[in-house]
Amino acid sequence: MSAKIVEVHPGIYEIFLPLPARPTIINVYLFDCHGAWALIDTGMNLPDSLQTLEQALATLNIRIEDLDVLIGTHHHPDHFGASAEIKRRSGAQVYLHRLEQEKVARVLSMASMTQRPPEALLFFQRNGVPPANYEGMRPAFYSNGAYVPIQQPDKYLHDGDVIEVGDRRFEVVWTPGHSPGHSVIFLRDVKVMVVGDHLLPRITPHVGIYPDSTPDPLGDFINSQFKVQNYDVELVLPAHGGTFHDHRHRANQIIEHHRYREAEMLDLLKHESMTAWDVARQVWGDEERPFAQWMAATFETLAHLEHAYLEGRARKFERGDKVVFQTA
Ligand SMILES: [Zn+2]
Repeated sequence: MSAKIVEVHPGIYEIFLPLPARPTIINVYLFDCHGAWALIDTGMNLPDSLQTLEQALATLNIRIEDLDVLIGTHHHPDHFGASAEIKRRSGAQVYLHRLEQEKVARVLSMASMTQRPPEALLFFQRNGVPPANYEGMRPAFYSNGAYVPIQQPDKYLHDGDVIEVGDRRFEVVWTPGHSPGHSVIFLRDVKVMVVGDHLLPRITPHVGIYPDSTPDPLGDFINSQFKVQNYDVELVLPAHGGTFHDHRHRANQIIEHHRYREAEMLDLLKHESMTAWDVARQVWGDEERPFAQWMAATFETLAHLEHAYLEGRARKFERGDKVVFQTA
């Protein structure tokens, strides 16, 4: 039990909460603000996760009811899924970026639909995704109760704002890319940065284009990797994987990884034009994957191709009822 909570810096605790699928753990972070308690991210709204959180807090002789502030880095189920339950029990002030609140509303409306909307089906088809039983691929969190987010936060996170809680100052750094309102939290006096999914030590977060996406999420993501490098950080607290120290090194690796991926894609597109689906199949084609993963790979590929197109390295045109790309 005590292994589920670790003090990573005086008064800053990393809590490991279970997830039903990979990645199998999300780290949420608890801050002793000396007279108040703040939590960043929530885990999913599943009994196992809430119980683990309770047990972790109990080692410090506190309860969920004692939390004063809750900050969501972004709207995803593993980060914000239990926010309504934590708010109900604690009355904590809940902070989330406005663009993430819009995403919460969109996810809840998608979850309530029995079929994908026509614009989604058109989007799949135009990007080369073959027809499939899309309704059979509904995410589990749509129906299993894992995602019960706060629909209206008490306050919005704004880039550059400082949230004062007890003797702590949480500085908001907007890092769009993985999600449009994704924000990381910087504690300047102790040089600690809570990075959510923006800067993970071993994996790169999904950055994809969907019908409701901003025009260039991958460009945003890369700019956000440069942006965090402006901060003087000694301890990086990610949502998945272990804590680490050199955020600039990791940010540069992630930028390099995406440049390599784009070069690989543009190489394939030198002599023939292809849909995002076709490019994804070639780039990741050596592995067997479930169909839903191929879709995710397609939308991640599309993020690369759109980014290359917007920066003049690729051309984009219509072929029949499909959108295809070719190296410029
Ligand atoms: Zn996420």
